[in-house]
Amino acid sequence: MKVNKERLKQDFDNIARFGKLDNGGVTRLAFSEEDLKARQYLLDVMKSLNLKVSIDAFGNIRGRREGQFDLPPVMIGSHLDTVPNGGHYDGVIGVIGALEVIRVLNENNIVTKRPIEVINFSCEESSRFRAGTLGSKVMVGKFTKDKLKTSIDKDGISLYDALKQAGYDPDRLEDARINNGDIYAFMEMHIEQGPVLEQEKYQVGIVTAIAAPTRFKVLIEGRADHSGNTPMNMRKDALTGASALILGVEQIAKSEAGERTVGTVGYVYVEPGAMNVVPGKVELGIDIRDINSTDKKVAVKKVIDLIHKIQKQRNLEIKYEILADEEPVVLSNKIISCLENEAKKYGFSYKLMPSGAGHDAMYMTNVTNVGMIFIPSINGVSHNIAEFSRMEDIKMGTDLLLKATIKLAQEECE
Ligand SMILES: [Zn+2]
Repeated sequence: MKVNKERLKQDFDNIARFGKLDNGGVTRLAFSEEDLKARQYLLDVMKSLNLKVSIDAFGNIRGRREGQFDLPPVMIGSHLDTVPNGGHYDGVIGVIGALEVIRVLNENNIVTKRPIEVINFSCEESSRFRAGTLGSKVMVGKFTKDKLKTSIDKDGISLYDALKQAGYDPDRLEDARINNGDIYAFMEMHIEQGPVLEQEKYQVGIVTAIAAPTRFKVLIEGRADHSGNTPMNMRKDALTGASALILGVEQIAKSEAGERTVGTVGYVYVEPGAMNVVPGKVELGIDIRDINSTDKKVAVKKVIDLIHKIQKQRNLEIKYEILADEEPVVLSNKIISCLENEAKKYGFSYKLMPSGAGHDAMYMTNVTNVGMIFIPSINGVSHNIAEFSRMEDIKMGTDLLLKATIKLAQEECE
């Protein structure tokens, strides 16, 4: 019983057409015309595989393969939407892998105890509405109706209207809720989006935990003065203050918090931004992540202390706002060991590893046992047109997904 690489490739190529760019990348924003076409393709395939299709009020698509008993299902899947100018692998491989699992089960006439469901979560990427993993958040009750009309894209279209236009039913958003126990287990196969598996030459990653970010927006105010006439000791340079903070964030993440702490200043805006003016204002964004909640708190506290120190030392006005402060999650030991056992049995080399990026899998931990499989990302590139994973690796990951799905659906995982 084996996964068929050609069929995976066919689904991959078919979906890649929707939103394909001349430069080789793809733009398939949530609920855009391209996304809706990809969804229609998925619906057609699901029907051709005899899955029972349902679509909830937020557009999350589920295709169900019945089991021997009417029990809570094993759910597998990911997302089809992308960032602008993104790659073809992020999200997509988790959906096509899930479809291939169903094909293999169908062609081998396998009846599992529990039903198996394939899912495509809506709006996983935050690019369009500045908030991501929305499909899973809606399902577990972490994104509610009141935010639909205030989430607006760059063209002024609200999430509420986008859902309506797509034919979904935002007024009944709470119908999309699922509860603890409704799903027996959830597994998501995804590209790693980092360089570790390729560099260390592993075939697959088995994810143990998902890091969560704490994000700061920092506004530093000094005074914009003439760069020629203002002596060094009379300046209030917002950018040199920002530089001290940026290097400090690096230092804290590198050696003053946990082993896995990462800290990034991903953007800096400088005002007025002229060669001959001392920078008067800087805005920057800090992103701190860890899979260990305590270590992350240590890092966050040190960053805040540093902000106060720089403010005092450099006589600047610094304000900060915490935009997000989420808890890291640990994935299910039962599913991790199930994946490990199957990987050992079939001779796949694997690495137990954390995920630095957020996924729908993270929110599904609120209602069920969750596992994740990572596929090597060549050169670690993601959210970029150069994103690439080898079909051979995707096949192997799908094989592992297949084996573990069967084990779970047969209740043979301890
Ligand atoms: Zn993704």
